[in-house]
Amino acid sequence: MQAEIRDVFEHYYKTRIRLSGRAKILDTPDHTALLSEIPRQIQAHLSARGRAHLYKIKGSIGLGNIARVPWVGVFRQGVTENAENGYYIVLLFSEDMSRCYLSLNQGITAIEKMYTKQFARRKMLEAAAEALKRLNCSPEAHLGKIDLASTGDLARAYEAAAIVSFLYTNNELPSEAVFFSHFNELLDHYELLYREFGPNLHSLFDVSEGEFQQVVLEKAAAQAPNVELDVPGAESPKTILGTKAFIRSPIVAANAIRAAEFKCEIDPNHWTFSSKAKKQRYVEAHHLIPISQQNLFEASLDVVANVVSLCATCHRMMHFGLAEEKKSHLLGLLRERKARLRDKAIEVRDSDFLQFYSGKVVLED
Ligand SMILES: [Zn+2]
Ligand SMILES: [Zn+2]
Repeated sequence: MQAEIRDVFEHYYKTRIRLSGRAKILDTPDHTALLSEIPRQIQAHLSARGRAHLYKIKGSIGLGNIARVPWVGVFRQGVTENAENGYYIVLLFSEDMSRCYLSLNQGITAIEKMYTKQFARRKMLEAAAEALKRLNCSPEAHLGKIDLASTGDLARAYEAAAIVSFLYTNNELPSEAVFFSHFNELLDHYELLYREFGPNLHSLFDVSEGEFQQVVLEKAAAQAPNVELDVPGAESPKTILGTKAFIRSPIVAANAIRAAEFKCEIDPNHWTFSSKAKKQRYVEAHHLIPISQQNLFEASLDVVANVVSLCATCHRMMHFGLAEEKKSHLLGLLRERKARLRDKAIEVRDSDFLQFYSGKVVLED
């Protein structure tokens, strides 16, 4: 393993320059190490432990464009098959080829799509910190954020998403035994997180109501009109393990706000103020049948048909207003949506619906 890591350190940068940006596979020592030798040795190690059937191993020098930060990933069945989703073990090389990390890392692309780039990075850091509380790491492990000496977007995401890693530098390459003892430790962490959280770590970070509305409005203002309105989130609500609340997709909410043309659906004349998001009228997304009631429904409540656009005042009324005062508004909104909800296999009696809003509990959505 030492020889292969050294091959990447010594040759990758030169090969990258020679290819002037294109991700073309060559017969160079660095490409051979990344795409065949390192994956083969990890495969052999897993086979010896009788675990090879559970993992997919893949090296990457980028797709289309050559990667500044090449890697070899180990993806567990049931979690992910690629570096974009879920979480995985990865040997990540820094852009300047001075070091590499064997890291338990999180796929960031799915979360970036769902939220925004910056928001996703912040939440990955939060998820990593939460995950670490559950792991028993050896003293030489590096906890949390890593440094890949790169300004590239993808590298920044890998840095923020690192949970626990082992650092190797040119002067301090690991022996075979050390490398695989680190690998085994990460494998144990990987299995533990998988048992506790399933295919993703989304339930390890919180999205506050304020953060949610802000992201939704930014997305609604930025997006091109979307024909297919119900973009499924990273998962259907019921499959999330260990989570306190059902996760709402900002994409779905943004599509609902766009469809309502940034108007309050109780009264289109309501105008509270203009938002920073492209000066659109400020509105908030509200789940008409509260998502906290998801357990009572088979179909997902996180669909555009169930999300209304409301001005800030009307939205607060829905959560904090007196039952008698909001009753006619609620029934009016439900009447408007009944057919569309039925299309989504969501049916509710008026009395049950009002019941959702009658409790003393403040609904969070
Ligand atoms: Zn609400
Ligand atoms: Zn209003």
